[in-house]
Amino acid sequence: MESSNFIQDFIVEDLESKRYSDVHTRFPPEPNGYLHIGHAKSICINFGTALKFNGKCNLRFDDTNPAKEDVEYVDSIKEDVKWLGFDWGEHEFYASDYYDLCYEFAEQLILAGKAYVCHLKGDEVSEYRGTLTSPGKDSPWRGRPAQESLELFRKMRSGEIEEGEAFLRAKIDMADPNMNMRDPAIYRIKKAVHHRTGDKWVIYPMYDYAHPIGDWVEGVTHSICTLEFEAHRPLYEWVLNEIGSSPKMPAYLPRQIEFARLNLTYTVMSKRLLRELVENNHVLGWDDPRMPTISGLRRRGYTPSSLREFAERIGVAKTDSMVDIALLYFCIREELNKNAQRAMVVLDPVKVVLTNWEDGKEDEFEILNNPENPEQGSRKLTFGKELYIEREDFMEIPPKKYFRLFPGSEVRLKDAYYITCNEIVKNENGDIAELHCTYDPQSRGGETPDARKVKGTLHWVNCKAAVDVEVRLFENLFTLENPAAIPEGKSYMDYVDKNSLAIKQSKAEPMLAEAKPYDRFQFLRQGYFCVDAKDSAPQKPVFNRTVGLKDTWGKISSQT
Ligand code: ATP
Ligand code: MG
Repeated sequence: MESSNFIQDFIVEDLESKRYSDVHTRFPPEPNGYLHIGHAKSICINFGTALKFNGKCNLRFDDTNPAKEDVEYVDSIKEDVKWLGFDWGEHEFYASDYYDLCYEFAEQLILAGKAYVCHLKGDEVSEYRGTLTSPGKDSPWRGRPAQESLELFRKMRSGEIEEGEAFLRAKIDMADPNMNMRDPAIYRIKKAVHHRTGDKWVIYPMYDYAHPIGDWVEGVTHSICTLEFEAHRPLYEWVLNEIGSSPKMPAYLPRQIEFARLNLTYTVMSKRLLRELVENNHVLGWDDPRMPTISGLRRRGYTPSSLREFAERIGVAKTDSMVDIALLYFCIREELNKNAQRAMVVLDPVKVVLTNWEDGKEDEFEILNNPENPEQGSRKLTFGKELYIEREDFMEIPPKKYFRLFPGSEVRLKDAYYITCNEIVKNENGDIAELHCTYDPQSRGGETPDARKVKGTLHWVNCKAAVDVEVRLFENLFTLENPAAIPEGKSYMDYVDKNSLAIKQSKAEPMLAEAKPYDRFQFLRQGYFCVDAKDSAPQKPVFNRTVGLKDTWGKISSQT
């Protein structure tokens, strides 16, 4: 079978060598926050690889830390994976499903002299562990008899020992060059209620111990994870080999394969930082359209296919890199350009009055819904004496090469008429209240018999037919291009853009009053917009700008 990345190369190799006869992956989120775009990459890799090889992919919640986890997160994770277009079918699992098994294996390890109960405290543990350049020292409890460890471990389980007083560690090698192999912790005491197992347990297995066991029980063949786990792979394999004497052991062991995590410019991605943004009210919630969470991107107007396309384009690599956020924008823009219905909305309106237009007269134009795709049909737009145009499309004193409206200039109103500005009417504060213009009746439809050229074409909305809509514009939430290069003494929160949300009370063409949550449009000259699913009401849509029209990615990629 053809492969398209190094993970698939390994799999093809494994199938050809008959190491495995089928492919079984898993996506293992910790339910301690909402999923982000980095997780979307991992989901696409895990589910996508299974699909490609006709295999299976499990959704496994890595719920080994009761203090930080919650069902709210479990539910949101399921919703997000489904929305992205993947289906785990019956294969929904929890690390906590295997607590009994993990415990059983731990007793086996103790009896086999492969694990012991240790009483070193936090800083003593690090001191005994040594450094990258010097070996560690044996814990004073390393040599204690297995029976003694077993009794203590049982006391840990029954709650007779307090948190921090004891932990179970694997007995491997305190001089191993790989620090993860220097007798790592495999069980710790945590007197916390778990969202699934309640108060049944007061000891919890560590991720590095529970994870291989989960993979193995579920029959996972390829355990795909991010690069920081590369140094944990020997421990992953150690656990599997040590529990291998169990009669339940299958003929093969799962294989761990690491890939580079996604880093995006102008974006922080760790759940810890995202939670901080939410808790400190820098954003309006996990699904704020400025957040890089899947729920935020959904609300902003991204489609599942655009995120899958993004994952496809960034590919899978073995070394860390930074992806330009412009590529993400490019993926949604490409898709919406093909299929989003066009509409005219004046974000920041100023009124134009056509002084030579007969009072009460109305005109009507038939306009294509999407010039890129005539199959999307057309709609009728009315035109009259009073119109809205963008405030920034007029300047009283224009600079050179300003081709929009100014006193004496002529512009085209998109698909309608040419107009010339003659007079500015100001209110008592000196602000522009109205622009008095004349139109050329011979320019109907946007051209004149003398083929007179005008350089500016403006979008507009007929005042009589206009509906009021709220429009929200976003900037990157984070102002630092490379989030990894944060200067010393600074915190991530110092780089949150306080002006990243702008709210406009706008005038829209009438059909937009009917827009439903997640309907998507291109507002002429303004970008792509999506109806907000939370704050909209019937006849009162709120529009989020998904992305602007200007493509910086196309430019970047054609230079290279
Ligand atoms: P975070 O630090 O953001 O909380 P995490 O790795 O702790 O990330 P998990 O819930 O443990 O989050 O992640 C589930 C899966 O998603 C893991 O296999 C992890 O490797 C993968 N993953 C997390 N972040 C990224 C990323 N930025 N790019 C690709 N995969 C990721
Ligand atoms: Mg994690």
